[in-house]
Amino acid sequence: MLMTTFFVLDCASQGVIRGFFGVSPQPNVLAEALANTNTAEASGFVMEQRWPIFKGLAWAICLMLLGWQGRKVWAEAPKRPYSRPAFWGMAALMTFTVLLHFNPSMLGAQPFLRWGVLFSSHAEAQKEIQAFENQRKALWRQHAAWDAHLVDQRPHTVVVFIGESDNRLNWHLLGYPRDTTQPLQEAFEKLPGQVTLFSNATSQQAFTLPSLKLALTPATSEQPDLWKTTPDITFMAKEAGFYTRWLSNQPSNDGWFAAIARDADEKVFINNGNWRDSSSVDRDLVKPLRKMLSQAARPYELIVIHLLGQHFHYELRCPKGIGPFSGVDDDPVMQDMKRAGRKDSIRQSRNEYDNAVYCGAQANAEMLQAISELRNDRKISVLYFSDHGQEVGHNRNFSGHSEQDASGYSIPMWLWNYQPGQKPQKIHIETKKFPLEYADQAMQHLLGIHSKWYEKKSDPLSAAFNAEAAH
Ligand SMILES: [Zn+2]
Repeated sequence: MLMTTFFVLDCASQGVIRGFFGVSPQPNVLAEALANTNTAEASGFVMEQRWPIFKGLAWAICLMLLGWQGRKVWAEAPKRPYSRPAFWGMAALMTFTVLLHFNPSMLGAQPFLRWGVLFSSHAEAQKEIQAFENQRKALWRQHAAWDAHLVDQRPHTVVVFIGESDNRLNWHLLGYPRDTTQPLQEAFEKLPGQVTLFSNATSQQAFTLPSLKLALTPATSEQPDLWKTTPDITFMAKEAGFYTRWLSNQPSNDGWFAAIARDADEKVFINNGNWRDSSSVDRDLVKPLRKMLSQAARPYELIVIHLLGQHFHYELRCPKGIGPFSGVDDDPVMQDMKRAGRKDSIRQSRNEYDNAVYCGAQANAEMLQAISELRNDRKISVLYFSDHGQEVGHNRNFSGHSEQDASGYSIPMWLWNYQPGQKPQKIHIETKKFPLEYADQAMQHLLGIHSKWYEKKSDPLSAAFNAEAAH
């Protein structure tokens, strides 16, 4: 009965947590929230969640009563000696129960041991960040040897949007039948200066970390380990005299990115594992970005914005009440998917994914608007790319990151260049290849800096770029 009570109370608390996050949260998020909270915030959370907590408790009491009812049946049953099969059956069950404890994810669901698992994974994440930080400190000591220097002395602002799980095959601007990118298209048409859309950009990896290690540092597919011994683009910019800012809607305890952000002159995480903010959408980045931009501009400034983009769970990527493709079941996209034999659940995922693409377009359009408003007296470059693509029933009945499908690597990318006095120009569609592993070269181009790693033939924005000769 003690066990039943614990399990039931644990179920109730998990129910409240799931209800709050919409999904089962990463253990790190919980551990960090618990480690960093104070009494006032904790009691604020309890007050805010009093109804779900009340509901959870009510369920727990019902289940416990049911358990106590069962006790009667069990206590009143006539006692019989153990039979041999029953003994072995019981032994097998007990062994299975013990073995379950060797599986970390099962252990993480064990009501007595869950919290230990949670805090040890938190401690591990902290240790990982510390290791990355030490590595970066050693790297910074060599900064003079990077030869990172300005080649364009005009004051300017560079903004880099790092997207997440965004697939260009789902962009209306690049030919997808559904109008998923309307807010961005409107923004592009109004912006003064030149917008370039890359219709042939690909990532070399299908997961965030391996892909961005290639994109943000001189590392390439041929030399993937170079990221450990070379500076990332924010470090290079800093060395060349840039004021650097990191604005993120991704978790603040994510190893390498956390370490990069800590070296920036300013960093803002709106999704820092805090209870209240953990279901933040990218549109919530608009406000802190406006605040950053309302400060006087430094001569050379770089802002990196790390989006949550179209990462699953897709339905959490939209502000409440926005979802133009929810419930659509008979448009050309759905008809195509039905013809290809896609399951209902995958088609529903596609609708949610397309909603997330739409909401991403909306958030990015609003941020572009803020940048163009608050920095219109200087040269601006804004680059957007996704870290990798996503398979959502494009090739098979599957929704998620995919190493085996082309959709896992097809990414959208765009660039907005502006100089004071320019008028809006027609969107230019660039069909040349843009392998994301050379994004660091393109960013040096946009920042107006050269380092010892910069080469025109590896710079996709240079006329001399040669995808075959680049390395
Ligand atoms: Zn990713």
